Amino acid sequence: MSCEVVKVVDVAAPFITELKDQISKLEVKPLLVAFLANDDPAAKKYAEWTAKTCADTGLRFELRECARTELEDKIVEANEDDKVNGIMVYYPVFGGTQDGYIQNTVSYRKDVEGLCHKYIYSMYHNIRYLDDAQTEKCILPCTPLAMVKILEHVGVYNKVLAYGNRLHGRTITIINRSEVVGRPLAALLANDGAKVYSVDVDGIMELHRGQGLKLKKHEVFETKVTLDEALKVSDVVITGVPSPNYKVDSSKLKDGVVAVNFSTAKNFNDDIKEKASIYVPSVGKVTVAMLERNLLRLHEYQTKEKL
Ligand code: NAD
Repeated sequence: MSCEVVKVVDVAAPFITELKDQISKLEVKPLLVAFLANDDPAAKKYAEWTAKTCADTGLRFELRECARTELEDKIVEANEDDKVNGIMVYYPVFGGTQDGYIQNTVSYRKDVEGLCHKYIYSMYHNIRYLDDAQTEKCILPCTPLAMVKILEHVGVYNKVLAYGNRLHGRTITIINRSEVVGRPLAALLANDGAKVYSVDVDGIMELHRGQGLKLKKHEVFETKVTLDEALKVSDVVITGVPSPNYKVDSSKLKDGVVAVNFSTAKNFNDDIKEKASIYVPSVGKVTVAMLERNLLRLHEYQTKEKL
């Protein structure tokens, strides 16, 4: 068996080192405020973990628990408070479109999760900067961004190619099309040049920039390709099905595939190691590193604005 099982701590490590270095130079450490307005034990665990990671890297973290009926006002208060540099919310709060409204209540100047419309729209349209002079990069959602960093780390991104085209020639299947991870991830990877099969419980969509990357941003196409057909040709398979019963059949995968699982459940069987060249069983630690990186970036923009 020659499968390389990638430890995400190793992917996160250089980012953490860089973050620590940047933070150590700041007199007042950036403050991340996280709102917990549900009673989900998983959200509480994630909050504890974020608090610990922030403390380790030297950032300030404050968990603000409130009733969901108070959440909107509390976010507005934090938006207006100069001492707060970043804001995040543990979802779901109300569920559905009301959570979308809450995401847009967070000021884009403080949105560490990159979930407000301005950032999501820019991502889908392959707009990479906030300004024409290209001095401020758009904030990207943390888990999809973490996935990009993991794919860069394992060499799926081809450094010989120009920035923005480095996935040209790669075929990637993503089994999850949620609004927070799967769909933005499919768009990001297709914008970087990949041909993406985006799979959800209802079917498959195809995303790419056309032959020879002739399109400036990805387009979405209906497809008749089945999951088996997609898996057979995919260089990378990324899974995020939140069910312990869902398993990808390793025998359907291309020999030497790069397999990445971001679900809390294990979507690959142990025999994945007999088929994959690279296996990444989880991504969480890189996600938190990206959250911190987004915070520092927003802090930098805020500081510039005050000058
Ligand atoms: P979700 O429930 O919103 O979305 C699940 C997606 O999987 C949907 O697109 C659904 O259609 C698809 N799906 C479900 N069953 C399927 C099937 N049988 N075949 C094909 N597609 C199927 O969940 P989510 O918020 O995207 O989270 C998914 C998982 O990822 C959870 O376990 C969550 O905890 C984890 N997650 C991890 C991170 C991280 O950074 N590690 C971040 C966010 C979410």
